[in-house]
Amino acid sequence: MKKILIAGNWKLYVTEVEDAKNLASQLKRKISKITNIDTVLMPTAPLISTVSAAVKKSSIAVGAQTVSPFLDGAHTGYESAAALKSAGVKWALVGHSERRAQESEDVIQAQVQAAVKAGLSVMLCVGEAERDPQGAHFSLIERQLSSALAHFPAKGTKLVIAYEPVWAIGKSAAEACKPADLEEMSIFIRRALTELFDRTAATKIPILYGGSVDGSNVHELLTQGGVSGFLVGRASANAKSLFEIIDACKA
Ligand code: PEP
Repeated sequence: MKKILIAGNWKLYVTEVEDAKNLASQLKRKISKITNIDTVLMPTAPLISTVSAAVKKSSIAVGAQTVSPFLDGAHTGYESAAALKSAGVKWALVGHSERRAQESEDVIQAQVQAAVKAGLSVMLCVGEAERDPQGAHFSLIERQLSSALAHFPAKGTKLVIAYEPVWAIGKSAAEACKPADLEEMSIFIRRALTELFDRTAATKIPILYGGSVDGSNVHELLTQGGVSGFLVGRASANAKSLFEIIDACKA
């Protein structure tokens, strides 16, 4: 059975230890009865150990919302990929649009490499700020992919691409990407990955969608959008809305 991946990017929506513990524990109970969905929780760094402890002995993986381009050394305030790995983190989110404002393509490429070196799986976000009737957004996505993945190893590191159009993030379900547009972009991303890796490797890379997903639009995006899961922001920070998404995706 092909698994659906649902990753929750909590951003700074969850900031209390007790809230993180409760939400992670509720998800652990919920997901224990569901076989076709893998989940990742991405809390803010200070809550990583709380969430890791709460999801122990479950299929839930923990991810970091960002990662430093430096593995070690004199870099105050950064989150080292090596330290995250050692703290039990499995996934590194790289290239999120809320970070691209301060992180150049070169930094994103270095973050991907640091994550690979440390043995973290990479969830790479790509997405355009606006759609162009002439299709310039497709070239932008291609550039974001080829730059970030320039030195990505063909084997040994898990990679997921999260297509997150910036214009759809943090809005209402009605403003999310339309399934037909998402399907077109999924096909384009798959083709671009085939240029970067060989066809067999490219076929195995899951493509997720993120941007105003909730229980009301997730089913049609999954069945018509050509994606194998979702990166969820706001709706992942609340048990009711997260479970609505899970229920709409479960077998
Ligand atoms: C995100 O920013 O990764 C995201 C998907 O946000 P939201 O679901 O809140 O639109």
